[in-house]
Amino acid sequence: MRYVSTRGTAPVLQFDDVLLAGLARDGGLYVPESWPTFTADDIRALRTLTYAEVAYKVIQPFTTGSVDDAALKTILEETYAGFDHEAVAPLKQLGANDWVMELFHGPTLAFKDYALQVVGRLFDHVLAKRGERITIVGATSGDTGSAAIEACRDRENIDIFILHPKGRVSEVQRRQMTTILSDNVHNIAVEGSFDDCQDLVKALFNDHAFRDEVGLSAVNSINWARIMCQIAYYFWAGAQLGSPEREISFSVPSGNFGNVYAGYAAMRLPIKQFVVGANRNDILARFFESGVMKMEGVEPSISPSMDIQVSSNFERLMFDLYDRDGLAIAGMLTKFRETGIMEMSQGQFARAREHFDGYRLSDDETRAAIRDVLATSGELVDPHSVIGIVAGRKCNRDKSVPMVALATAHPAKFPDAVKQASGIYPDLPERLSDLYDRPEKVEPMSNDVGALMAHVRDRRRAA
Ligand SMILES: *Cc1c(COP(=O)(O)O)cnc(C)c1O
Repeated sequence: MRYVSTRGTAPVLQFDDVLLAGLARDGGLYVPESWPTFTADDIRALRTLTYAEVAYKVIQPFTTGSVDDAALKTILEETYAGFDHEAVAPLKQLGANDWVMELFHGPTLAFKDYALQVVGRLFDHVLAKRGERITIVGATSGDTGSAAIEACRDRENIDIFILHPKGRVSEVQRRQMTTILSDNVHNIAVEGSFDDCQDLVKALFNDHAFRDEVGLSAVNSINWARIMCQIAYYFWAGAQLGSPEREISFSVPSGNFGNVYAGYAAMRLPIKQFVVGANRNDILARFFESGVMKMEGVEPSISPSMDIQVSSNFERLMFDLYDRDGLAIAGMLTKFRETGIMEMSQGQFARAREHFDGYRLSDDETRAAIRDVLATSGELVDPHSVIGIVAGRKCNRDKSVPMVALATAHPAKFPDAVKQASGIYPDLPERLSDLYDRPEKVEPMSNDVGALMAHVRDRRRAA
């Protein structure tokens, strides 16, 4: 499979190059040159398969030519065998045509594991084949760091350094990172804010000599490989609930638009509708009401993984809405970065609205909804997942079609907000129950680029 950039001028690449490149050289995002076909019979054939087998059927067309099929199969089997629910992505019914798909049974209790656990292994596989090594350096405000570390730990050809602001991440989040004692994992507690951490990382990437010397890389949220892995659970849900004979709708608590875009990429299913859930940082919900994308400052909420200003993956949807006109996209997005505002033409907006609705919940509404879902269904849900559930109910266009809300995090990942809303302190799953007793490995560091560079040089394993 070949990939093109949404901004039209970067070279066309094969999957393995796209995996390692992340962002395209023209600033765009990579998408497949053409979409693989899934016939009605192909979808029917998924019904009797395990989650890992479904993932293989969905992912294989995207990696052909770069990853051999047997290796991909092994990677997927190995990945999902490590999840702690037999169904991997179990579907739970809350009411008539009212469903939740639980995507929090991976190692760090959030849906990002479903892709990152595969992507870490794909990186290692592709690097080994090419005889290359990389050094991943990233900054985290708490949430993505642990998923990246779990994805890269113990990988032969990867060293990973994750910076977090010292004393400013929650204890669960810190421990999910610092209790990984693997030789290739390096946690750094920076004296400073999350912005300081991000600036340090940027400084390393901007030093091209250093970048080449250590093979600097990132596992960021715009990597196509992450989207590709997420497409699998939309097919999985469809197959469980009667596709292709029955339609299906999805409601997705959204931030960077990666997760819901993966659903759009699964459109070979008879998908009726997508609902895009937001918190007070509602740029996406406002867009789907008005056709206007307008940047505003980020405000902290009780669903922090959705606190974003600009949803970078939205560019991939735009690319389709504008009939893959990369230069038009490049022009619009450059202007958007300058002015903070972007208006879509009527025709394109109408196309977006064919399948998408947006809905926003305030923190108070989110807390009330956690109580309500607990009272009516006995399920304790986290502040992100509940936004999906409520948004799906509010925007449902056709009550005869199953609406599946994606539960993106385990309640124990956000225990304080859940306790405050419901009075119940959610327990960590058995596997993590001794998290508070485990030894930690973390390096304190001043906010200093020179010190960071020296540390990376010193600690990364030699080639
Ligand atoms: C990352 C994340 C989201 C947002 O997903 P996007 O793909 O960025 O839209 C929602 N909920 C949780 C718990 C997350 O970790």
